[in-house]
Amino acid sequence: MPQIIDGKRISTEIKDELKAQAASLKEQGVEVTLAVIQVGQDPASSVYVRNKKRACEYIGFSSRSYELPEETTEEELLNLISVLNQDASVNGILVQLPLPKHICEDEILRAISPAKDVDCFHPLNVGKLFIGEPGFQPCTPAGVIELLKRSNIEIAGKECVIIGRSNIVGKPMAMLMLRENATVTITHSRTKDLREVCKKADILIVAMGKPRMIDDSYVKEGAVVIDVGIHRNAENKLCGDVDYDKVAEKCSAITPVPGGVGPMTIAMLMKNCLETIKVGE
Ligand code: NDP
Repeated sequence: MPQIIDGKRISTEIKDELKAQAASLKEQGVEVTLAVIQVGQDPASSVYVRNKKRACEYIGFSSRSYELPEETTEEELLNLISVLNQDASVNGILVQLPLPKHICEDEILRAISPAKDVDCFHPLNVGKLFIGEPGFQPCTPAGVIELLKRSNIEIAGKECVIIGRSNIVGKPMAMLMLRENATVTITHSRTKDLREVCKKADILIVAMGKPRMIDDSYVKEGAVVIDVGIHRNAENKLCGDVDYDKVAEKCSAITPVPGGVGPMTIAMLMKNCLETIKVGE
């Protein structure tokens, strides 16, 4: 049986640590406030927004919610961001993606003050990550690092293969693994012989958005497998990019879906909210 990496437990552990830090900040008169903006009523986005607000409540941050209609213009959204950028009582600003097609996501993400960019999507923060400066960390990849560390899985010197090169997961994941001294390979849809590349991995991180595509034939005996993917199957059950049952027989540790990487993303978002206090110092 492999070690099951319990994201639910680890994320609660992190949120409890943050709760204690938030309480001690409150005693010093410092309150952390997250502004969450949603445009339109995409049901999946509404669930994510609700979960983020709940996490704020749990930790003791205050959250401000801006639910804007689908037909909100880019200019109106930019104006709201500008007001929130200047509002000293707002520490973090989060714009829930995806945005309606008529709004340019890049423009919006660049408009958020880098000091309030708790998702770590602003090019300045992405650049800091690349050159190894302290600051915000991208939530999902940072969550994966915490899962590995808190499960006592060594990263330094290990061969790490990442499937996926998105700006949200694959690329920043590679930077964080590099920072932890892994030897990193990034793969994508044009990679030749993906299976053979993956079989070299001591740590295989899968973020490809293809339900249950990675089976045991991609995995080296005893590897650690992290499944970032999240999908609903025909029976409305959650599954990942990894064929869990097949891979679990071969690997030494694995994240389940649900209960693996998913809960970590929000925990790390909350960590970034607290980080705003340091960034703003
Ligand atoms: P994207 O669709 O933006 O990126 C997918 C990446 O996988 C691309 O780089 C693509 O390559 C690569 N890819 C697709 N098919 C193949 C293939 N057959 N072989 C090799 N590489 C392939 O997805 P995201 O990075 O945003 O998300 C990945 C998954 O993680 C999704 O399931 C998403 O829902 C989930 N996710 C989960 C989060 C969580 O909190 N647990 C947070 C964010 C995402 P190319 O660049 O060549 O097209």
